[in-house]
Amino acid sequence: MTTRSETQTTLTHLLTEIEHRNPAQPEFHQAAHEVLETLAPVVAARPEYAEPGLIERLVEPERQVIFRVPWQDDQGRVHVNRGFRVEFNSALGPYKGGLRFHPSVNLGVIKFLGFEQIFKNALTGLGIGGGKGGSDFDPHGRSDAEVMRFCQSFMTELYRHIGEHTDVPAGDIGVGGREIGYLFGQYRRITNRWEAGVLTGKGQGWGGSLIRPEATGYGNVLFAAAMMRERGEDLEGQTAVVSGSGNVAIYTIEKLAALGANAITCSDSSGYVVDEKGIDLDLLKQIKEIERGRVDAYAERRGASARFVAGGSVWDVPADLALPSATQNELNEADAETLIRNGVKAVSEGANMPTTPEAVHLLQKAGVAFGPGKAANAGGVAVSALEMAQNHARTAWTAQRVEEELASIMTSIHSTCHDTAERYGAPGDYVTGANIAGFERVADAMLAQGVI
Ligand code: NDP
Repeated sequence: MTTRSETQTTLTHLLTEIEHRNPAQPEFHQAAHEVLETLAPVVAARPEYAEPGLIERLVEPERQVIFRVPWQDDQGRVHVNRGFRVEFNSALGPYKGGLRFHPSVNLGVIKFLGFEQIFKNALTGLGIGGGKGGSDFDPHGRSDAEVMRFCQSFMTELYRHIGEHTDVPAGDIGVGGREIGYLFGQYRRITNRWEAGVLTGKGQGWGGSLIRPEATGYGNVLFAAAMMRERGEDLEGQTAVVSGSGNVAIYTIEKLAALGANAITCSDSSGYVVDEKGIDLDLLKQIKEIERGRVDAYAERRGASARFVAGGSVWDVPADLALPSATQNELNEADAETLIRNGVKAVSEGANMPTTPEAVHLLQKAGVAFGPGKAANAGGVAVSALEMAQNHARTAWTAQRVEEELASIMTSIHSTCHDTAERYGAPGDYVTGANIAGFERVADAMLAQGVI
């Protein structure tokens, strides 16, 4: 039987090896550290997990595809982007995870997201493996026709790697309903198959699930509510700072309002908006989803209650709750100090890895309830898996049914993380709970399926 400290030493060696074998991938290193640094208690307690090669296999993607994506803009100029799909782990089911279109995308970013996705998907309790993909294409300022041509070119390569039983992409930053539509159209054209379950986040008239657009934001608020319940409080009357103004942020704000809380901010890469009266969701949806505009336009049109702050940090705005919903590493140590000083009670991650490790440490030390993304934002992929189930059965569930399933999955993820943390001597530490619970499920399946 190895001790906890011997196990920690082995894991630390492995992390050095990961950095060496995967140079210039800081986000992937960060994600691997975040998981492996919490696994010592479970690996020490269950000798089968110390089996040579198990964790080494877990940190190595099963397959990584990188491809050229040429396309023409409206003036006929040719652009060349790079496409990625990292099929990380299929021990629990077909690879599942979104596509991100953003200029910051590179292999390390996609690997960090794919690695997170393995544990997140395991936590849902559903049969889905982990994967992620995307491109360094920037959809901002592009016409619909340009986005369509890009998506068609992207799918012309991607189609040979995906399938309803193989790998099922969905949306992420820069990929919403419009992009999924163009991608699905091209897949159908190339393969001559109506294979609805090959992509999720589809339109509701052609195979999409009700509540899928809402699911990540709604799920994160349900997770935050569950953490608050553990502290003997609910969301009624609480104020919240939310970052981002895309899919996750919008439906986070909507669910907060439904549960009696008040979101007073939103943001994009140009700055943030504070609205003392609470964000007017109809106006935000009009600007972001219909006009594809920026948040400064919200402040201009909203009137006296709202102001736009160019640059700056949304985390400077005092509130009871913080729900980062934009991108990775958007909440750093200084932001955490500000939040703590302003009396924040809970931070729940709608985005993937938005809080830096130093900030997580500070928040937990200060007794702030902290919900890590792989648990708190798992509602999106969970409803994607429900969309696959509906597609397979050629049926469509009511919004009420999907929302009930989502609520029950989020409650179960919360209690799994909570109870696992307690079992391994880290009560209240949802990071440890989520990592260990996700790891146990994937590791058990990998061990049962042999060395592959
Ligand atoms: P969207 O593209 O709909 O919105 C992204 C928002 O974040 C925009 O407001 C965008 O502003 C802002 N943003 C993106 N990158 C940056 C940056 N580098 N700096 C500042 N702001 C930035 O994406 P989603 O809402 O779908 O995704 C948000 C986060 O949630 C991501 O981390 C994603 O991985 C995660 N997530 C999403 C899920 C989903 O179902 N969609 C599921 C689980 C997690 P701007 O327009 O200026 O770039």
